Amino acid sequence: NTNRKAQIGVTGLAVMGANLARNLARNGYTVALHNRSSEKTDALLEAHGSEGDFIRTETLQELVDSLESPRRILVMVKAGGPVDAVIDQLVPLLDKDDIIIDGGNSHFPDTIRREKDLAEKGLHFVGVGVSGGEEGALNGPSIMPGGSAKSYESVGPMLEKIAAKAEDGSPCCAWISTDGAGHFVKMVHNGIEYADMQVIGEAYDLMRSVANIEPAEQAEIFKQWNTTELSSYLIEITAEVLAQVDSKTGKPFIDVIVDQAGQKGTGRWTVQSALDLGAPITGIAESVFARALSSSNSAAREQAQKGFTDGLIATTGVATADPEFVEDVRRALFASKLVSYAQGMDMLSIAGKEYGWDLKLDTIASLWREGCIIRAELLAEIMEAYKDEAPANMLLAPAFNKLMEELVPSWRRVISKAVALGIPVPVFSSSLAYYDALRRDRLPAALIQGQRDYFGAHTYKRVDAEGDYHVMWSDDL
Ligand code: NAP
Repeated sequence: NTNRKAQIGVTGLAVMGANLARNLARNGYTVALHNRSSEKTDALLEAHGSEGDFIRTETLQELVDSLESPRRILVMVKAGGPVDAVIDQLVPLLDKDDIIIDGGNSHFPDTIRREKDLAEKGLHFVGVGVSGGEEGALNGPSIMPGGSAKSYESVGPMLEKIAAKAEDGSPCCAWISTDGAGHFVKMVHNGIEYADMQVIGEAYDLMRSVANIEPAEQAEIFKQWNTTELSSYLIEITAEVLAQVDSKTGKPFIDVIVDQAGQKGTGRWTVQSALDLGAPITGIAESVFARALSSSNSAAREQAQKGFTDGLIATTGVATADPEFVEDVRRALFASKLVSYAQGMDMLSIAGKEYGWDLKLDTIASLWREGCIIRAELLAEIMEAYKDEAPANMLLAPAFNKLMEELVPSWRRVISKAVALGIPVPVFSSSLAYYDALRRDRLPAALIQGQRDYFGAHTYKRVDAEGDYHVMWSDDL
């Protein structure tokens, strides 16, 4: 039937696009399929065509013709130039009020620009952050849509239907705010993800190096931690990775992996954006730099291993797997994790003011409860913390304030031990420094203001009077 129309079209059928298309079809929508080269379209139809109602199209014109009006087209091509290329090809084929949805990992300034350009042409552009990888795309991702409130009326119900569902049954999808807000929130999610992964790595390193706890045994520890307030997807998969044995050598799998971490750029964007905003996301930044340090200059790492022999040992060689130490590490990990989330939420609140987005932090936390990589039990509590009145900092919400006090002694013990033994714990330690800086009554920032006034006449404020002051430091000036 050539008159049959699809409710949504998907162009770009690599893993993410294909799985979102299947998810839409499984939820009862008629989905038009398109890919630049039709091999991917055919492969999808052959393997999964029976899962739902699909319409095969070969050209973008055919895709556009197959859709009911106003059209909804989900673009799932490679982020960057390809998104602009596809938009440019689509625009002449579309009618007023049609909606282009970009579900890729686009950088939010690009989304702001694209939305503005398309709005001038009478078209809607919805930048949507999607988290959860391939598996999430198929079975229910966490979805963070931006764009106009009006376009959400059209695409929101479909996105909510295919999104992950939280324990209370609510979809992990809600309108974030205008233009690039959805992609911005997804970007910060990824920044938190970097920190979350790094603190787990630091806990692993401490237990291995200080206490000689082998990966298989650590797998059991992480499994147990997953039943505590640390319960989360990343802790769960850490247990699986640590339990894995390399089939070629019989060694723990982790020992055959080159210790140089890769990155695709969303963590870097988060930190770049935080610098623009003046948002102190120190733990997240350290986690991005920790990946860079591991991989950017392997020659320096190799030489330093031989050159910097200051007598410290990164491995004690002493079996001290006492439960108290393990519990200290668990608490230090949890405290550092709380700081990363607090920093991410703080960045969102600063960005909301800067970019004119009315970001609802409790809603954002609620979207991260399921479907995405940072999904964790903790998110339900963060959601509660922001429900009525947002605390000045997440750590100051009553639930977390008390918790931090309980965690701090372990946190300090673990970091002291790491420093004494020469084991790098950049996110543990910078997170503690952040916490301590927040709670300190006087910071040395006063001295910095004095220095700035001295060399640059930048002025300073007094503790006992209003206004800006300057000292005539030298008679020569
Ligand atoms: P991808 O590898 O990023 O992109 C491949 C797709 O883009 C193919 O369909 C390809 O078409 C198409 N494409 C590339 N250049 C094009 C151009 N100039 N014109 C038209 N089509 C073009 O695919 P992906 O891994 O499925 O990711 C899609 C998006 O989701 C990306 O933005 C990615 O960052 C984001 N994302 C990915 C994940 C993940 O776990 N992979 C998770 C969340 C978000 P051809 O087949 O013709 O080459």
